[in-house]
Amino acid sequence: MSQPFSCPHCGSHDYSIILTGCDVAGATLQEDFAWNAERGEYSSGGTVILSSESVESEGGSAVCLQCEKDVSEAVAEYEKQQEG
Ligand SMILES: [Zn+2]
Repeated sequence: MSQPFSCPHCGSHDYSIILTGCDVAGATLQEDFAWNAERGEYSSGGTVILSSESVESEGGSAVCLQCEKDVSEAVAEYEKQQEG
């Protein structure tokens, strides 16, 4: 059994990775649209990659879903441990 990642700020195990400037091959993308009655238009939460053959990215950052702090370094450290 492997240990989950823990946020160094709040201890949460949930995080999100945001990749920018991606070079994605064979990807399936999903974008959700929610109707915003106040503004009279659809708002989108952005595009989500459901699956892909490969993702090359130069810039990536990890954000804790609980406290929304940048946990890039902690996640990189965690992933290094998982590789053994
Ligand atoms: Zn946190």
